[in-house]
Amino acid sequence: MEIPFFPPDLFDTDRKVMLDLIREIGTAADQKFILGEHTAAFERTLRDAVGAADVVACGSGTSALGLVLRAMDIGPGQEVVVPAFGCAPLASAVLEVGARPVFADVDRRTMVVDPDDVAARITDRTAAIMPAHLFSIMADVPRLVELADAHGLRLLEDSAVAQGAVLRGTPAGLWGEAGVYSFVQVKSFGMPGEGGAVVTRDAELGRRARLLRNHGQGGTRFVHEVVGVNSRFDEIQAAFQTYRFAGFAERLERRASIAEHYTARFTGLPGVVPPPPGRDGRCYYVYCVQAERRDRLRDFLGERGIGTHVYYPQPLPRQAAFAPHARAGDRWPNAEHAAERILALPVHPHLTDAEVERVADAVCEFAEVAHVR
Ligand SMILES: *Cc1c(COP(=O)(O)O)cnc(C)c1O
Repeated sequence: MEIPFFPPDLFDTDRKVMLDLIREIGTAADQKFILGEHTAAFERTLRDAVGAADVVACGSGTSALGLVLRAMDIGPGQEVVVPAFGCAPLASAVLEVGARPVFADVDRRTMVVDPDDVAARITDRTAAIMPAHLFSIMADVPRLVELADAHGLRLLEDSAVAQGAVLRGTPAGLWGEAGVYSFVQVKSFGMPGEGGAVVTRDAELGRRARLLRNHGQGGTRFVHEVVGVNSRFDEIQAAFQTYRFAGFAERLERRASIAEHYTARFTGLPGVVPPPPGRDGRCYYVYCVQAERRDRLRDFLGERGIGTHVYYPQPLPRQAAFAPHARAGDRWPNAEHAAERILALPVHPHLTDAEVERVADAVCEFAEVAHVR
């Protein structure tokens, strides 16, 4: 029996709700399919849940990053310090607004950006710091806030995978001036389609993102106050996600307890390092271990029907797309180390206890066998 990395039955129990919404919104008199009252209600739900000043639903997590960068007026001639290890939008969103991504190395253990390395890469062109919460753990935002304040820099969080994560009482996305969410299917609050949001504690930044997401139009159609983009939100998905938000905390809790169990089982294993234990500042979108013989662990689990993923096989500045934008001679030894070792295990809330045990047993068996050799 296979244990898939992503559950194939993610939306099964909500299928009727979706079909009813398609009929209801699809046949409503106003024929409003984007940015209507359902989107507004969804935004209010998310805003109130974290105590933000504003949440602006938009086309994707990637475009949410772009909206924030634009709203902050970051552009040509400026630099944004981003992690060298993470996903493509960290670099591409910066390049898209005409600024330059400067890659900072990550912490060897947590694999999120290392504040000391960020500090070392600040120049007089640096406009912003953009950390990402990744790999089961939030970035060291308290230190990054200090750093941003000390140097007068903007701070935006790529919190695309950290919706619901909280560090020292402050939710992911509210440590910086703004953060983002992604609702693409595989994320913790994923939906059957494409979508994202800007989350911010700054009402003015929210207002600007709102303007930018719909071609710079404010209240009046065809009156363009600024040059914007098309990054709008779907009404059917908004109604569906508002409905599903009620179960989000419970699904996150299930992810957290699975992660906690894995960490308890893996602590002290030879050759396999779990994330640090604890619940503060943790996100459970994926659960990543670092394994000395990662490819063999992946094959070992694959032979036992357990799906895994390598996030990410290469540091960003080693990718052909971004290498030309990296500074010559720069090195990211911890990002390289992470790319060679990281492996994500299934942690989705549809796993049964027996499946969780099967994954944990297989990892333990591998570590003990590989250790003996
Ligand atoms: C998924 C993801 C994004 C992008 O979100 P999309 O909705 O897929 O555009 C950005 N940053 C991180 C860390 C992500 O995991």
